[in-house]
Amino acid sequence: MHLNGISLKHNKRTADSATVPVPLPESVKLPMSQHMGAPCEPLVKAGDAVKVGQKIGDTDAFMSTPVHSSVSGIVTAVEDHLLANGKVCKAVVIESDGRQKMSDEIYRPVVNDRESFINAIRESGCCGLGGAGFPTHIKLRVDTDKTPVDSLVINAAECEPYITSDYRELIEAPEDVLDGIDKVMKYIGIAHAYICIEDNKPQAIEDMKRRTATRDDITVVKLKSSYPQGAEKVVAFSATGRIIGEGELPANKGIIVMNVSTAGFISRYLKTGIPLVERRLTLDGDAFGTPCNVKAPIGISVRKLIEFADGSVDDIAKLLAGGPMMGMCLYDFDAPITKTNNAILGMTEKWAVRNEAKTACIRCGRCVRACPLRLMPTEFEKAYEARDVERLRKLKIGLCMNCGSCSYVCPAKRNLAEINQLAKELAR
Ligand code: SF4
Ligand code: SF4
Repeated sequence: MHLNGISLKHNKRTADSATVPVPLPESVKLPMSQHMGAPCEPLVKAGDAVKVGQKIGDTDAFMSTPVHSSVSGIVTAVEDHLLANGKVCKAVVIESDGRQKMSDEIYRPVVNDRESFINAIRESGCCGLGGAGFPTHIKLRVDTDKTPVDSLVINAAECEPYITSDYRELIEAPEDVLDGIDKVMKYIGIAHAYICIEDNKPQAIEDMKRRTATRDDITVVKLKSSYPQGAEKVVAFSATGRIIGEGELPANKGIIVMNVSTAGFISRYLKTGIPLVERRLTLDGDAFGTPCNVKAPIGISVRKLIEFADGSVDDIAKLLAGGPMMGMCLYDFDAPITKTNNAILGMTEKWAVRNEAKTACIRCGRCVRACPLRLMPTEFEKAYEARDVERLRKLKIGLCMNCGSCSYVCPAKRNLAEINQLAKELAR
């Protein structure tokens, strides 16, 4: 059972690249906004000494999660930082002392019930590691009396071309993934888990099937390789057959969707108490001489990762945080890696997508057929141009997840996904 989608060249040439740690940078920059929701307030000032895992940003806002230092050293600045989405937040700059001394605040959390589990996840600084960045403790804090949740959907689809960081989590840390799943099921009270993997990752599917062969509460779901299988609504439907409607969360349909690397992190955090201070990323694109998977401290600059992958900033015409379909263009080689970055892609002039001249719509309907949610991008475009908010709402612009499939298939090269994003803002 699957929704519409498109076929993309996978380009997963880093699939067999085992994760390697990058050298410790001289400094890191930690933005106070690294996830969906409210930014944190800095808890440190210039001149303060900090250690790895020390909390350096937090807030009382419900929809947020704390930020921890990824290095030991001295805070050199607390300054304004321009995010890739154009917003400005505070960022803490820390000069590393090269010693990676661990904070005294780190302790293995005591978890014995639902509340202590959710509180521990909040303190870990965890947010969705697949790119969306939804604070994990909010996702888990669903009121199961009002909204019974019976299904945990583990998203290991990784449908974006190039990216293999989730695949490496499955291959390198399958016990952590299964332990994280068990902990979420146990403490949130979820009866069944579905581990969803695209069929272009046969080794991971076979391994997970073997490991769960005696479990009747876990199903490994082999997904058709089709973009955007990993989108939340799509993967939830593929696993359970339930449709998440406009304005609904997966929990409204009894589902929690969780990225596979997030599940692995939860297990490691509960065992060690080390918060989210590093993550795995795929470094790829034709501008990199040595494409690879790395483990990097949060806050390291993109420039350092480009150097590590034998790339040169002079060769890069397009720099992306995330995949080529839904990733964010970066304007600054010195931008820091955040909790939600699962890949850095560097494309030379040869592969960077150029703005080809758009022509008139030929009413071929390919964009509608490509849309996994059966939306009508052509009508969005017309309604946006007329600034007709009522029509945009009738057409359910709020459902568009900006997957870019409509733009990708359009023979007239119309900027449909871009218009959809603007139209969504207008409707809001
Ligand atoms: S960007 Fe929106 S309208 Fe276009 S295919 Fe994706 S979900 Fe459908
Ligand atoms: S794919 Fe492009 S040309 Fe075809 S109907 Fe959609 S907007 Fe028009």
